Amino acid sequence: MESKTQNKLIDTFGREHSYLRISITERCNLRCKYCMPVEGIKLSPKKNIMTADEIYSIAKTFVEHGVDKIRLTGGEPLIRKDAPEIIERLASLPTTLAITTNGVNVDQFIPLFKKCGIKKLNLSLDTLNAEKNHLITRRNYFDRIYKNILLLVEEDFEVKVNCVLMKGENDDEIIDFINLTKKMPLAIRFIEFMPFDGNRWNLNQMVSLEEILKKAVDEFGIAQIQKLKDPPTDTAKHYRIKNYRGNFAIISSVTNPFCDGCNRIRLTANGRLKNCLFSSAESDILSLLRKNKPIVPAIKEIIKLKFKTRSGMDTIEQFNDPEIHTKNRSMIAIGG
Ligand code: SAM
Ligand code: SF4
Repeated sequence: MESKTQNKLIDTFGREHSYLRISITERCNLRCKYCMPVEGIKLSPKKNIMTADEIYSIAKTFVEHGVDKIRLTGGEPLIRKDAPEIIERLASLPTTLAITTNGVNVDQFIPLFKKCGIKKLNLSLDTLNAEKNHLITRRNYFDRIYKNILLLVEEDFEVKVNCVLMKGENDDEIIDFINLTKKMPLAIRFIEFMPFDGNRWNLNQMVSLEEILKKAVDEFGIAQIQKLKDPPTDTAKHYRIKNYRGNFAIISSVTNPFCDGCNRIRLTANGRLKNCLFSSAESDILSLLRKNKPIVPAIKEIIKLKFKTRSGMDTIEQFNDPEIHTKNRSMIAIGG
C-alpha cells in the first residue's frame, strides 16, 4: 500500500500533478488556422482511440494518485458520439470536471452539464466579427457560438472565453472583448499564439502580454485597471476594469512562461501522456492498459522526465527554431 505522498504525482522540481487534461477526440467541426494545419492532420485509426471505458479507467487511476481536476478537450470534445457517456462517467469521480469547447454544440449539453454538476466552461472565440470568424475557423458558425455564450451566461455557468490573438487578424478587437466584461460576468482570456506542427507560427504574428496590457492602459487608463490575485497554479494573469462585472486575463506561454506552478499532465485521444504542451516526448499508456500491464510506473516515469520550463525551451529565441515545434504534434491532436 502506497503512502499518501508516494501516491502523488510529483516531478523532480517538487511540482504536484493534480490536473489532468484529456483529449477525447482528434476530430473537430472547425478548422481554426492557428490549430489545424491547412492540409488537415493524419487521424489515428479508430481502434487506437481510447474507448469510454479506457478513458474512465485511466482517469480513475489518476484520481487515485492525487488528481482533483479533469478537463475534457480535443479536437472538439462535444462532437464525439459517446461524449455524454464519457462526461457522465467522469462526473462520478471525486474530482472537478471541466470542459473546453468551441461552443458550436454546447447548448445541447446544458441539461447534462447541470445533471453532472459541471459549472465551468471554457469556450473559444477569437473575434466578434462573423466574417472574420469564418476566415479564422474556416467554418461559418459565429452566430451559433455567440448565441451559445449568451445562453450559458443566462444559465449561470462560469464562462471563460479563450481568444488567441494574432497580429493583423484580431488584435484590433482587444478592447471590444474587454468591453464585453462591462455588463457580462465573463472572463476573457487572451492567449499568446503558440507554435505547433503545421500552424505556420511566426514570432512577429504573436501579440504579447506587454502589447495587450498597453492597449488596455491606453484605452482605460492605468488607474482603472485592477490587478487581480492569480491562483498559484493558474496559467493566466488576471485583471479587471474597475466596476466591470467580468474580468480579463492573459495567458503568456511564449513571453512569460508560468511553469513554476505547473500542475498539468495531458492525455491524448490515442492514449499517450505528454508532460508538457511543448514536449514531443510521449508515453503510450493505452497500449500498456490494453496488455493488462500496470500504467502507474509509466505515469510516474513521464512526470519525472518533465523539464523545469517549457520542455527545455528556456528562451523565446528557441521558439524560432522550427525544428523544435515541427517535432511536436499539431495542437488539434494534443488538446490545448
Ligand atoms: N475545440 C475546443 C476549443 O477550441 O476550445 C478544445 C480544443 S482547442 C485545441 C483548446 C484551446 O487551444 C482553444 O482555446 C484554442 O484556442 C487553443 N489553441 C489552439 N491552438 C493554439 C495556438 N497555436 N496557440 C494558442 N492557443 C491555441
Ligand atoms: Fe477545433 Fe478547437 Fe482546434 Fe479550433 S481550436 S480547430 S475548435 S480543436
